[in-house]
Amino acid sequence: MTKTIKFIALLFVACFVSNVNAQELKTEVFSLLNLDYPGLEQVKALHQQGKDAEAAQALLDYYKARTNVKTPDLDLNNIKISKQEQKWADDGMEHTFFVHKGYQPSYNYGKDINWQYWPVQDNELRWQLHRHKWFTPMGKAYRVSGDEKYAKEWAAQYMDWITKNPLTPMSKEEYELVSAGEVKGNAENVRFAWRPLEVSNRLQDQTNQFSLFLPSASFTPEFLTEFLTNYHKHAVHILGNYSDQGNHLLFEAQRMIYAGAFFPEFKDAPMWRKSGINILNREVGVQVYQDGGQFELDPHYHLAAINIFCKALRMADVNGFRNEFPQEYMDTIENMIVFYMNICFPDFTNPCFSDAKLGEMKEEQRNYKDWTKLFPKNKQIQYFASNGKKGQKPENLSKGFLKSGFFTLRNSWDKDGTVMVVKAGPKAFWHCQPDNGTFELWFNGKNLFPDSGAYVYAGNGEVMKLRNWFRQTAVHNTLTLDNKNLETTESVTKKWQPDGKVQILVTENPSYEGLKHRRSVFFVDNTYYVIVDEAVGDAKGKVGLHYQLCEGNVNVDPKTMTLTSDFEGNSNVKLQCFTPKSTTLDQEEGWRSTAYRKRVERTAVAFNTEKNNDEAVRYITIIYPTEDASKAPKLEASFKNKKFDENGLEVEVKVGGKKQTLKYKL
Ligand code: MG
Repeated sequence: MTKTIKFIALLFVACFVSNVNAQELKTEVFSLLNLDYPGLEQVKALHQQGKDAEAAQALLDYYKARTNVKTPDLDLNNIKISKQEQKWADDGMEHTFFVHKGYQPSYNYGKDINWQYWPVQDNELRWQLHRHKWFTPMGKAYRVSGDEKYAKEWAAQYMDWITKNPLTPMSKEEYELVSAGEVKGNAENVRFAWRPLEVSNRLQDQTNQFSLFLPSASFTPEFLTEFLTNYHKHAVHILGNYSDQGNHLLFEAQRMIYAGAFFPEFKDAPMWRKSGINILNREVGVQVYQDGGQFELDPHYHLAAINIFCKALRMADVNGFRNEFPQEYMDTIENMIVFYMNICFPDFTNPCFSDAKLGEMKEEQRNYKDWTKLFPKNKQIQYFASNGKKGQKPENLSKGFLKSGFFTLRNSWDKDGTVMVVKAGPKAFWHCQPDNGTFELWFNGKNLFPDSGAYVYAGNGEVMKLRNWFRQTAVHNTLTLDNKNLETTESVTKKWQPDGKVQILVTENPSYEGLKHRRSVFFVDNTYYVIVDEAVGDAKGKVGLHYQLCEGNVNVDPKTMTLTSDFEGNSNVKLQCFTPKSTTLDQEEGWRSTAYRKRVERTAVAFNTEKNNDEAVRYITIIYPTEDASKAPKLEASFKNKKFDENGLEVEVKVGGKKQTLKYKL
């Protein structure tokens, strides 16, 4: 080979390599835009003259000068970057991508980015890579430092992603497949990279990235056409692939409103916006029960749904289309907030029922500060937003949400209060767990019976095994047959009496073929709880009544069927169960998840009774919260009605010798 040929060959290879992610002028963008949109006159004229390069430049100039479109998420005159975001940005420069809080430190995706790298086969890790969580921090880093390197790298990664994650058509169901590894190659990748929830996430966040990087030299006219074409493809994809139901659908709809509102220059923009608004207006009626509960019965997704609805409103407010949401929409959100404040503990955290995450006080309180701006007349929201300095605390203490099946038995809104939240609702959806009848109990600043939580979502066999452990009925504060998961999760509220010296909740779940679980909860003298569990039916097997406390020392005494906590501080509990004669008190494996893939060991027990005949198995549990459990009073309890009575119940308890009859008629 002559030197010249060698040189040409090398040049060719070099050009080819450097062109892999090169930006092209995507002229199709001009057919996607409404060139009659005010401000695009010059773009239209140049395009019509066949001068597309100049038209692209004019389009870029238009966007740089654009002021009429606003976003509620970003104040371009006051950009701040947190230490954490700066790290995500800098790590991102090295292709160490912040994908998921549960997988830290972040993984490196290679010099030549491997968008299919999947070090742990947890679906979330693969899905969320495609949310590009480090892009917006890179944008902030660019704005704060003025360093072009962030913009250059962002544009390169953006193009790299487009090149390596092409969209090929696929059925709706395939995106939602939870079992991993059945399809390989690009088809497999598409269901991660182009799952509608991820697509909608990019649709939302890219509005911020667009604003942040727009002034940079790397944001060339060619890049603009690539960006807009890609963005358009995202919106079209959602439009044809909205999730069927649940929170995913809400997220997608809200983000379509973002797309339509932020890029009104697209021909389809009004339709995108309308589609999102229509879905939210419809789903606010479908997904939210009359009592204000979101139908997944997961306090965290309930909160997420409130925030989705609010986000759409804020976008509407800054761009002047609030009137597209009816009053009913506003009322429903307000109901949802009232629901939420009632099921939360005095430190603003929510019970971790279902897949709920444990929040942090500061973060959770910020919600009220945001909500009070949208609902300035609501005094309760104001109260929580201002640490009680403004507004009014709710007039009610205990509160029941009968349709959703959430019941709070509360003696105070303050830190030193006693608050039990019981979950006993209808059949629910994906994020819900088979935990009917379970509860959490807060006393004097501490959650004494936190839920096991979720730990992980979905992935391969190993990940699903972990997920399924935390979902089990038996790791909740409720009753099982042979430790199996509930076959039916459809509780019926038989009685709810939220005030007086003895407050009462009676809830019944069909639980298993041949075994109904009736749980009666009495909140006595605003001080202690008596729970009566009755397992009724002709099923035979091991009836187990499970309790799990928070981490720390707990003395378990099988002779007296008593648990006495010895936690540090002044929030403790004495729990004593009055059982059939043959019952044993057995310790079980106990964990609670405090965050994604984080768990702590804790005491878990079951009061187990062999059920050999048709007679009901019945337990009375007294749960006595106290500062020092070693000084707790003597507890006694017995049934007054000798057999299960479909129409009522009567028990007698003695606490420190003081007799109390607890009864009701149905
Ligand atoms: Mg749970």
